[in-house]
Amino acid sequence: MPKYVFVTGGVLSSVGKGVVSASIGRILKARGLRVTAIKVDPYLNVDAGTMSPFAHGEVFVTYDGGETDLDLGHYERFLDVELSRDNNITSGQIYHAVISRERRGEYLGQTVQLIPHVTDEIKDRIRSSSGGADVSVVEIGGTVGDYEQLPFLEAIRQMRIEEGAENTAYIHVALVPKLWSTGELKTKPLQHSVVELRRIGIQPDIIIARSQEPLPDDIRKKVALFANVPFGAIFASYDVDTMYRVPKMLESQGFGEYLTRLLRLDGRQEPRWDEWDAYLSKWDNAVRSVKVVMCGKYVKLRDSYISIVEAVTHAAVHLGVRPIFKWCDSDLVEKEPARIWDYADADALIVLPGFGRRGTEGMIEGVRLAREEGIPFLGICFGMQLAIVEFARNVAGLRGANSEELDPETPHPVVHLAPEQRHVDAYGGTMILGNKEVELVPGTLAHGLYGASTTVERHRHRYEVNLDYLPMLVERGLIVSGWRRDSRKVEIVELRGHPYFVASQFHPEFRSRPTRPAPLFLGLLKAAIEPRK
Ligand code: GLN
Repeated sequence: MPKYVFVTGGVLSSVGKGVVSASIGRILKARGLRVTAIKVDPYLNVDAGTMSPFAHGEVFVTYDGGETDLDLGHYERFLDVELSRDNNITSGQIYHAVISRERRGEYLGQTVQLIPHVTDEIKDRIRSSSGGADVSVVEIGGTVGDYEQLPFLEAIRQMRIEEGAENTAYIHVALVPKLWSTGELKTKPLQHSVVELRRIGIQPDIIIARSQEPLPDDIRKKVALFANVPFGAIFASYDVDTMYRVPKMLESQGFGEYLTRLLRLDGRQEPRWDEWDAYLSKWDNAVRSVKVVMCGKYVKLRDSYISIVEAVTHAAVHLGVRPIFKWCDSDLVEKEPARIWDYADADALIVLPGFGRRGTEGMIEGVRLAREEGIPFLGICFGMQLAIVEFARNVAGLRGANSEELDPETPHPVVHLAPEQRHVDAYGGTMILGNKEVELVPGTLAHGLYGASTTVERHRHRYEVNLDYLPMLVERGLIVSGWRRDSRKVEIVELRGHPYFVASQFHPEFRSRPTRPAPLFLGLLKAAIEPRK
């Protein structure tokens, strides 16, 4: 039977609750425990797939094609596991299931209510998604006090009674801000958020204060007193230079010992941090930096590409360098193409995933700059499709070439809607999603980087390279180095005679880990640290 660690957030969002939850998981994993993690999102969308990246950041794609919250990316990277779509529970899924059941007559005679029907569905899902783990970390999205969070808090309140106190822990993460005028640390907002939790019957066992710096003892004492927890149950998650430092930061305050004692999981294996420490020491010793230009249409919110930022970082740190990101807003380049020259000093350039027309001419300029100036280049998904468009226009001379998504009237639809997508009319969860096997062509860069003849990568797209145009592009020097195994689809392309020009239809970023960088990013960064010719 798994034990449950419930993580709630107080005062405001964006205080790094996802990273703290992932870190808690890693601390338990370091003790040899099997850990899984679940994100609960109280919004009514069934999944994150239809939400704007500007509002919620990246859509993280799971191996089984789930379009999930970006926190699942943190969990996968920190725990080094592959999670399923079921690890992201939303209100939309819960209500959808309950209402469908009601229509099927499965509640016949009953009045269907928030308690117990909705809360039962929540508990069932948390339990079934935790199967096989020793500990399941369940992060409740949003902030305590939000109306929409209440059914979830009620469900986890009930779970303590049903599972037993030694099998459940409530951890509350809340901001302790520093007042700009006096420099004082203020605990009152945190106190109020704990009162709010207690009002609905949850007394936190542990408080993690999110602060700019370590908490002095007098502040910890105050928090302990007002939050009604022992002094030893107050920890701080303060600002650090890399998020991968958070597990060790909590560990050094005695967090792991405290939590495992609480859950009666203590006295097992001594925590093992060798792999994690190896990454951190590489990070610490990386002196040189590389400039990586990120070219895309959602750059105003950096979280839109968080897995790509992490994948670049993993690869760079592995090679002993640190990335400095420079963001290229393709919208601005589209309006004023000469601006692309501001990015000519890049050591590497990535053209990012995306949807829809706006800003795409700017992204195509990004491809052109990288190709013509010999800047190491990686195109990801949309970035690959636009690399095909650029090559078709500027190398193969196909004037007006485009993707059907961007110009349905184009004379040369070098990228077009995938045949199996032509009859799709519903919007949510209907793209080509999740794991697909890719065959790597011997003798290519991609084959060398993977060191294997096949690989499995995650997908999220509707459009693909139009095979009618492929012979023409290949004749002009385009190399297809990866093919979808189950159908004839272009997965990776590259160019010869360029330091590194690779683009993939799949998303290599989702499988990157701090301890295991993804091959296509490693190739990019290796080329980036070579002196430019
Ligand atoms: N818009 C493109 C498609 O649907 C690319 C999607 C992406 O970059 N994830 O195929």
